[in-house]
Amino acid sequence: MAQPASFADLGITQPILAALSDMGFEEPSPIQVQTIPHMLAGRDVIGQAQTGTGKTAAFAVPALQRLDSDGPRPQVLILTPTRELALQVAEEVARIGVNLGAREAAIYGGQPIERQIRALRAGVDVVVGTPGRLLDHLRRGTLELRHLRTVILDEGDEMLDMGFIDDIEAILQAAPGERQTAIFSATVPLPILRLTQRYLRNPVHLRVTPEHLIAPSIEQSYYEVRGIDRTEALCRLIDVLGMGRAIIFCRTKRGVDELTAALQARGYPAEAIHGDMAQPQRNRALARFREGGSELLVATDVAARGLDIEGVTHVINFDIAQSPEAHVHRIGRTGRVGRSGAALTLVLPREVKQLRAIADSTGARIPRGILPSPADVAAAARDSVRRQLLEVLGEADLGECLDLARELAEASSPVMVAAAALKMVLDAGRGSARGGAGGNDSGSDGITAEPGMQRLFVNMGGRQGLRPGDIVRAISGTGGISGGEVGVIDIHDDFSFVEIPRAAADRVIAVLRRTRIGGRPVNAEVARARNGG
Ligand code: AMP
Repeated sequence: MAQPASFADLGITQPILAALSDMGFEEPSPIQVQTIPHMLAGRDVIGQAQTGTGKTAAFAVPALQRLDSDGPRPQVLILTPTRELALQVAEEVARIGVNLGAREAAIYGGQPIERQIRALRAGVDVVVGTPGRLLDHLRRGTLELRHLRTVILDEGDEMLDMGFIDDIEAILQAAPGERQTAIFSATVPLPILRLTQRYLRNPVHLRVTPEHLIAPSIEQSYYEVRGIDRTEALCRLIDVLGMGRAIIFCRTKRGVDELTAALQARGYPAEAIHGDMAQPQRNRALARFREGGSELLVATDVAARGLDIEGVTHVINFDIAQSPEAHVHRIGRTGRVGRSGAALTLVLPREVKQLRAIADSTGARIPRGILPSPADVAAAARDSVRRQLLEVLGEADLGECLDLARELAEASSPVMVAAAALKMVLDAGRGSARGGAGGNDSGSDGITAEPGMQRLFVNMGGRQGLRPGDIVRAISGTGGISGGEVGVIDIHDDFSFVEIPRAAADRVIAVLRRTRIGGRPVNAEVARARNGG
């Protein structure tokens, strides 16, 4: 199938194109290529896709583009199985809709209902929520479905497994008959099929199942990242596995820049290539990688397409590929001309399904690996020093060092002297750059942000009706940064955290302090441990 080259080819309009570019997306993923034109044309859709394929943008882009900005609201309803997914989807909606001024609300169980009632009353274009709580609002008369233009069921099979089928039917029955309905689901079991027969009209069934894909026969494994930072996981793997030359794939241009900076800050020689870089700049990075000046090349799929570099020992999927084809293209960068290579994939727990889909449709075996612990990293460092030391010993000509050793051995025992020298070498390795062993395991306290990002504390939260979109809009206001640069947004009851590029922290704090959200003045400051509580 010929794939259009760009988001613009899919019929997406400028405000959304600009937002997607800000988010660092280079080109549409396969499910987006298939889905967006149909949904823009108003068709009902069954999209067979799992987390990691870009399914959220596949439905959020057309739903947002079809908003009637003057019409009554809400116009879009998105059902998700869990609170976490509701929040993620709402965040993605906020980012994609940032230039449209679209407003969204996440509505889920476990949060005080009054707060949600206030948010809904204030008026939102897009409601994202879990079925039980949405039904609750319907019964209370606090959610109005009369003006819905689009209803989307996200992770249909999960909602089914969680016993939401009756709630979903009740909601669909309360929605207007003249509407667009789309259901996204990793699998389409019989009950989902029945649901589509009852509630969808002449749907197109889209899935990203390749005809027959053959994965190159190289060793593959995957690592589930939970509880630690992805970069930390990557560094541990690099330290322990000892790579010759590795290509590391990120989903977005922004991801490539951030990871490269984080690796360089930790002392790893890394180069970046992506579509926003000028060709000479890309060529220079490639030359340094080819000639061995750097061991790691961080790339987007687009930038790495067609690269043929000798001696790539590892391909690392820092972000999982968005389709089996993309995965096969990526891992084909190693193990070339009969040489062996290995491909490692980092996944979040929720992306394991996408990994399974990739393994199934490529006929590959992708066993799970265990992430090295800090102790493993330390042991690998000791091994490496031992090897290097034995090499130096083998060379025998120790010159002045021998005199120094004799002198020191008179003051202390030779073993103590050797141990002290080893400690110096190991500490130097750890302290400066490859700080893996001393890494951060929590990832969730108040102050830890992604590398290159700064966590800000904001003095408003859900109880004040704050939504992710409010923060994105406030920050991307005059003098701030673009919506796509905003990182994780974490809304608590009375305060929130938001991650932004470290370099922009002062500017963003100033912008936020001039802003009012919901009529209230905002205060923002760099998050400290005491903010984290
Ligand atoms: P999803 O499958 O919707 O959970 O998306 C997985 C991740 O891919 C999210 O972080 C999205 O923001 C990101 N993403 C979605 N579409 C694209 C794209 N075309 N290019 C790069 N990243 C994308």
